[in-house]
Amino acid sequence: MEIKIGIPVSPGVAIAPALVLDSESFRIPKRFIRKDEVEAEIRRFEAARKKAVAEVAGIKEGIHSVVKDEVASIFGSHLMILNDPKLLGEIREKIESKRYTAEYAVSRVFRKVIKAFQEIQDAYFSQRVNDFYDIQKRLLRNLLGQKAENLSKLDRKVIIVAHDLTPSQTATLDKAMVVGFATDAGGATSHTAILANALGIPAVVGLGTLSQDISGGDIVVLDGKSGRVIVNPDEDTREKYAERVKGFVDRGRKLADAASKAERATKDGQRVTLYANIEFDEEVEYSLNMGAEGVGLFRTEFIYAKYGAHPTEEQHFETYARAHKLLGGKLLTLRTMDFGADKFAAEVGLEREDNPFLGCRSIRLSLREPKLFTTQVRAILRAGKLGPTRMMLPMISSIEEFRAAVNLIEGVKADLAREGLDFSRDVPVGMMVEVPSAAIAIDSFVKDAAFFSIGTNDLVQYTLAVDRNNQHVANLFRHTHPSVLRLIRGVIAAANQHKLPVSVCGEMASEGRFAILLLGFGLRDFSVGPQSLPELRTILSRVSAAEAESLAAEVMAMAQSDEIDRLLEATAERLLPREEFGD
Ligand code: PEP
Ligand code: MG
Repeated sequence: MEIKIGIPVSPGVAIAPALVLDSESFRIPKRFIRKDEVEAEIRRFEAARKKAVAEVAGIKEGIHSVVKDEVASIFGSHLMILNDPKLLGEIREKIESKRYTAEYAVSRVFRKVIKAFQEIQDAYFSQRVNDFYDIQKRLLRNLLGQKAENLSKLDRKVIIVAHDLTPSQTATLDKAMVVGFATDAGGATSHTAILANALGIPAVVGLGTLSQDISGGDIVVLDGKSGRVIVNPDEDTREKYAERVKGFVDRGRKLADAASKAERATKDGQRVTLYANIEFDEEVEYSLNMGAEGVGLFRTEFIYAKYGAHPTEEQHFETYARAHKLLGGKLLTLRTMDFGADKFAAEVGLEREDNPFLGCRSIRLSLREPKLFTTQVRAILRAGKLGPTRMMLPMISSIEEFRAAVNLIEGVKADLAREGLDFSRDVPVGMMVEVPSAAIAIDSFVKDAAFFSIGTNDLVQYTLAVDRNNQHVANLFRHTHPSVLRLIRGVIAAANQHKLPVSVCGEMASEGRFAILLLGFGLRDFSVGPQSLPELRTILSRVSAAEAESLAAEVMAMAQSDEIDRLLEATAERLLPREEFGD
């Protein structure tokens, strides 16, 4: 039994075998062979190795004439590794004496070597790690016959263990079979965290080297509240956690029940609207069941994962039409594509950037590639005829940028009219406020934008200069940093003053303790992962706007995040005691 502690990002407890993915989605099966199969297995390994040698030699030959010798020498060292007698001896030994399958033996031996190299903090050795990863992948591909895991069809419940999940992996996942996520990298607002919350699946991220220390099929206990991940638990631990799985399900049921009876308002009668954040149109039904009054953020990037880098206008339109049908007249907020940095950069063929979070992502890419943008805009304007629809532009950092996008949208309207297509001219165009420059100069947007939605995930990242996906700085990612709170308060105040709708759709809104503070800043619309809706509804119905305002005043007089966190936690615990619904 081995215990690891990571960053808890989606509550709940799960117990299931691990499905370990590498970046190409290979499953490393844990399988033993019979004694009489040993020889054939060694031959199988030899064949895969020889094929790898031939492949690498071919690549080396091919590049030698066009690029510098150093590049060819990388492949020279790959060949040396593939012929290294010690390494080969170890792999053969694992097949012979432990009766491991060839792929399992390869993954065990390579994992050990990679780990040893990683422990040496040196640039030369980190390069070697990449070499070993590459060769391991090549061998596994040869052994497994090029077959990457078909994640869309799993035959049993699993906990996905990966270094970091790529958006395209999660987009194709058979979500009914995944009961937990555990990743080496990531922080509280990383892609895995958001997805896990949306799906109501427990998740722990920032686990360091878990994906290398675990083998497929190992039993994993995952606690998304404490951040604990236990590999191959003993009987007692397993039983204890099986009880907790039950407790968590009961808590969810009780909270959903309390939320369904709660007023859609604060204790003193101020109307509060709760929307859902979704990534897939299929999530609409779950969101409505959890009490959503509409969709406040549809991260439409996932359409690109489903249909490829260039979905057609019809593929966009059909997705929005399906969502509208399920929403039955409730609001649908469609965010235009937010590519780049952590989202689909490789998938859509963007060139590598040294600082992708500060690079050509999101609206910047939309303005650079107007065809990609306008194809989606056409579908959004047409979907505007099917139900209340809003268009939301991400990552806006200046009014010029907003106006340039609006110009393109107006051009699309003229085209659609010329073509005689049915579309809505009145789809409100609003913006995410997630770049500090927009939050600071919010006044410059109030005449142009139809609404604001504050993206705290990026706003915190950019204000505090803390990468939201980097587990090494996760402790510095603080929603309650006074600078962040001032920006948020300023945006809400400006919106309210100009009678513009404003919501918060970043992860901050999904936690009861922060939501009370946002209420105190004057926020009335919240957009969160569907799983968080019942708790949010319950807590916000138990506090008065006046109480929340005085809490906000107290918080704004504080200088330290720790102090603010303690006060908010104590307030949330008073309003929604942990033992009330079980924990
Ligand atoms: C945000 O940045 O807070 C947000 C909601 O957008 P995303 O998490 O998709 O970047
Ligand atoms: Mg964002």
